[in-house]
Amino acid sequence: MSNAIGVVMTEHIVAGRMENHRLVGEVVRYPSDSNEVDALMGVPGGALLEILANHITELAGSSEKQVEAIGVAVPGVVRHGVVEDAPNLTQIKGMRMADELAGVLMGRGVKAPVHIANDADAIAAGVAAKFGQLDRLTRVWTIGNGIGYGRWPYVEGVWEGGHITVTLDPKERYCGCGGVGHLEGIMGYRAMRLRFLDREPEEIFAHAKEGDARCREFVDLWHRALAAGTASFIHLAGPGRFYFTGHNVGFVDVPLLRAHLETMVKMSPLQSFSLEVLPNDDETALLGAGVSALRALTW
Ligand SMILES: [Zn+2]
Repeated sequence: MSNAIGVVMTEHIVAGRMENHRLVGEVVRYPSDSNEVDALMGVPGGALLEILANHITELAGSSEKQVEAIGVAVPGVVRHGVVEDAPNLTQIKGMRMADELAGVLMGRGVKAPVHIANDADAIAAGVAAKFGQLDRLTRVWTIGNGIGYGRWPYVEGVWEGGHITVTLDPKERYCGCGGVGHLEGIMGYRAMRLRFLDREPEEIFAHAKEGDARCREFVDLWHRALAAGTASFIHLAGPGRFYFTGHNVGFVDVPLLRAHLETMVKMSPLQSFSLEVLPNDDETALLGAGVSALRALTW
């Protein structure tokens, strides 16, 4: 039987204990008030590690069984336990998180290897685990303030799919990273607010449904951009399952996305792809963080 602890740190922190790739017991959350957003923004990196260690120690103490692995999912570019970049949680940029957190935990008597994963990769791992398809390629787009791309099984690389170039129009410069023509520059929440200074993204999608020409045109562009990003990954790694989730997944219109994708993917061996929207929840990423940590033990 495998025992692991999974943690997700995005705008908030959630942590849970897992047995045999399933969550057991209560999930703990920081801040406990789910209405409080941006609670982690001003917290220094060292203090974040303390908060993580508190939750992990509490969960480890809730069972007699030895914890084999601890997985932490964070938004950013993660390699070998180091957070190389984290545009939405800047205080952890450059942190040797796996080593530093393992050190803090050691001081509290919790001895288990710590594995750090990108949050979108963790969601892909969680989806694969949930559907019993850990042996298959699973890809996930996370649609939130930024656009994340995750894949399972993990392979070495950067995989910043949200920054894939989907247009050559030099006026497309709303991406948070500063790059021109990026997917996130069209689809990201912040990017949409910059483009439409007079209305919120929710209003853009609502007005499009009511027939507003400018909003309809943009909603179509938004779906074409997502189709273009997805088509690029189909042309690189093949067809298969694509899942869509995240805070703003409600904006996705699957039939419209599919219609655009079908204009972009014409080689018959590549047309067997599936598109599925998943509800946005913390548990999937949490599960995936734990599963990734257990899998990392065998590398
Ligand atoms: Zn970008």
